[in-house]
Amino acid sequence: MPLRLYNTLSRQLEPFTPIAPPRVTLYSCGPTVYNYAHIGNFRTFLFVDLLRRWLEASGLDVFHIMNLTDVDDKIIKAAAEKGVSITQLTGPFIAAFFEDRDYLRIVPAHAYPRATAFIEPMIRLVTGLLAKGVAYQGDDGSVYFGIARFPEYGRLSRLDLRELKTGASGRVSTDEYTKDNAQDFVLWKAARPEDEKVGAAWDAPFGRGRPGWHLECSAMALQLIGSRYQSKVLDIHTGGVDLIFPHHEDELAQSCAFTGETSFARYWLHGEFLNIRGSKMSKRFGNITTPRDLREDGVEAAAIRLLMYQTHYRQQLDLTDDALAAAREGARRLGEFADRFERAGQGKGGADSPWAEPSRRLEEEFRAALDDDLNAPKGVAAIFDFVRDANRLLDEGLTPPAAARTAWDLADRVLAVAHRAQARVEITATAVDPDDGPIAEAAPADSQSRVRWATRWASRRSAAKRARDFPAADRIRKLLTDNYFEIRDRRDGSAELVDRRA
Ligand SMILES: [Zn+2]
Repeated sequence: MPLRLYNTLSRQLEPFTPIAPPRVTLYSCGPTVYNYAHIGNFRTFLFVDLLRRWLEASGLDVFHIMNLTDVDDKIIKAAAEKGVSITQLTGPFIAAFFEDRDYLRIVPAHAYPRATAFIEPMIRLVTGLLAKGVAYQGDDGSVYFGIARFPEYGRLSRLDLRELKTGASGRVSTDEYTKDNAQDFVLWKAARPEDEKVGAAWDAPFGRGRPGWHLECSAMALQLIGSRYQSKVLDIHTGGVDLIFPHHEDELAQSCAFTGETSFARYWLHGEFLNIRGSKMSKRFGNITTPRDLREDGVEAAAIRLLMYQTHYRQQLDLTDDALAAAREGARRLGEFADRFERAGQGKGGADSPWAEPSRRLEEEFRAALDDDLNAPKGVAAIFDFVRDANRLLDEGLTPPAAARTAWDLADRVLAVAHRAQARVEITATAVDPDDGPIAEAAPADSQSRVRWATRWASRRSAAKRARDFPAADRIRKLLTDNYFEIRDRRDGSAELVDRRA
């Protein structure tokens, strides 16, 4: 069965076909870095991690972009309150976001563009929209997108322009607004003294100012896929359901009006909300939880992943103490099994082996579940069924054959929900280094940077192997081994790192 994904654009399950297979361009709206991202944000990022891992396990080459919004209304307000520049405000939160990502074992994106580093492409986009007559300069000096001048407006969020109470005559200059308030939205905001004070103003042909939030994603995505693949359309765009309107509607409008293409992304995927103990997470109720809170409480990353993946990404999830406790127990059980399974070694196994049936079932059920719009709950159920059968076979002293390992490795690698006694870092098959630029030969001292360092070298090694540059691959293996990382190749070309120091 081919992979099917629920496309918000059509409100239907659709077979997934990339524009230029095996390449898949994936854009995910990332965090607004004025604060620590909370566990609700990370539910969306874990849904994206599942999508990314499954696409790669299915043999596709994903180029994954996640933006960092480092200039918007909220950031400017927070910087002004603290009396610092926006860069001073966002720097530590960007570092914290990467730490939380690594803790949750989320595979790093290939590019993390920061809005403030892409002002030039943003100015080009606004210039283009002005030239095409879909944008105009208001008497306040800001540049707006005229939604009445783009007949497709409302297509993604199913907003009927004819029903707009306010009409398309008004305009809105804030980054966030509701459907009831759909009006011409701001692309470029004329600089105010408060913006200048915090370093949030840039020169542009249409006046000094700063980008609107919606503009940022369009410009960064188009710039990155354009320069890398000469492409104007993304394969997949992801975000939380709260971003469908206005953020994604506005991204779609600006991008299509600019490129002349009928779509900005072929597939739009949205993850549902996380509720804490039945109420939607919000600061007002004091129920904001961040990954660092959970980490300080000693919660294993595998447990958080298991908890998230036991609910389908398009269903709301309630985070309760009981659910978390059950997930911790589950992740530990899976980890104990993983260690035991590994110690059991590998035996021969024909079709009549008692391992054959449970192994075949795990592989088939897991693939079918994930191909069905990333049905992780069903995938998790298949894993637990297998573990029950496999533990019984191990009790009987029966050594697992290669087929059992292949099936388990696939499920383990895609979900990463087993908490092992021994730390591990998974390296994906994609031979794209998550960061650009050279990597030092010497391993850094602190453990987070050390793991990152090893991950990057392992990606380079995968690239070398793909290019059949075996001397380079061997040299990298030695470098990793010398630094206490054991590297294990998997049949599908991916590799796993085991940190002997952890
Ligand atoms: Zn976005």
